Amino acid sequence: MARILITGGAGFIGSHLMDYLLRQGHEILCLDNYFTGSKANLAHMRDHPQLELIRHDVVNPIMLEVDQIYHLACPASPVHYQYNPVKTIKTNVLGTLNMLGLAKRVKARILLASTSEIYGDPQVHPQQESYWGNVNCLGPRSCYDEGKRVAETLMMDYHRQNRVDIRIARIFNTYGPRMALNDGRVISNFIVQALTGQDITIYGQGRQTRSFCFVSDLVEGLVRLMNTELLHEPVNLGNPEEYAIMEIAQKILALTGSPSHLIYLPMPPDDPGRRRPDITRARKRLGWQPTIPLEAGLKETIPYFAAKLRETKS
Ligand code: NAD
Ligand code: UDP
Repeated sequence: MARILITGGAGFIGSHLMDYLLRQGHEILCLDNYFTGSKANLAHMRDHPQLELIRHDVVNPIMLEVDQIYHLACPASPVHYQYNPVKTIKTNVLGTLNMLGLAKRVKARILLASTSEIYGDPQVHPQQESYWGNVNCLGPRSCYDEGKRVAETLMMDYHRQNRVDIRIARIFNTYGPRMALNDGRVISNFIVQALTGQDITIYGQGRQTRSFCFVSDLVEGLVRLMNTELLHEPVNLGNPEEYAIMEIAQKILALTGSPSHLIYLPMPPDDPGRRRPDITRARKRLGWQPTIPLEAGLKETIPYFAAKLRETKS
């Protein structure tokens, strides 16, 4: 049994990760400032004897004693990370610096939740970890993309300079229950729009592609990465099934039986055109690959959003 710190534990991925690690019998410290996370995500585990909740902002240092750190704290949806871009940079840079300082002091292993966004609008397809990326450092996405790139650099430098035992997960688009209703990412937007009969908002012509990983698969990958020895280079975690955004809209309309219409809105600046992970490294080093196809994952996610919408009405 280990004592494990999860920053961003009240968020979408963090709360699923905490469920998994509590089931394994670990002691969990959840640290969150509740910017995009919610107490609702934690309601079912709040009284768990092995769980401690700490309201804290990672831009400020904190002294704790832990064996492992999963550093997830950072808004992930473009709508949320662009709400206060300077804060997003602080969260990524100062937050990661603080967590690395903590890891160094207590000799904890630390895993960073990095992102496929560090590849920017990729000119190499599919994306391997060796690709350096194509990122606009001046655009509205750069607070997140460049923030995570600096976070990766900090991880590597603490590893080289201070021998901190690091893991870097490059997470590709992930979806599932516990995404917020107002999350703003494509799967949650389309499902909520379909269930409420609103227009489905396609940005651009919907030809851009993404690869979507169901959250339980992703959590399994994160835990395997954390517990694999001597793996300091980044590892892509995502589902290599690639879909155009238009296909996602059509699938969700079919699965919900919704009468919603499609509308076309301008493409946001710097929106990546194609994205699909090469997961050879994860397959070889972690023995990991996703098991849940998109349709099966959507069939678990749609009823969650339907229940959430009923809750907000009553
Ligand atoms: P989320 O927004 O649901 O969760 C982020 C959590 O971090 C929230 O609970 C939020 O309140 C907390 N947080 C934000 N800023 C904080 C701060 N300064 N101090 C303390 N807590 C703070 O997002 P998610 O989808 O669960 O993403 C979790 C992590 O995974 C993020 O680091 C994100 O960049 C990364 N990631 C996610 C995806 C995805 O598709 N979901 C893809 C790539 C990377
Ligand atoms: N998107 C869309 N309609 C929406 C939300 C998103 O067409 O209501 C598109 C968006 O332009 C992008 C893709 O879906 O090309 C994925 O967007 P999301 O915000 O989910 O993730 P990211 O762009 O960070 O991969």
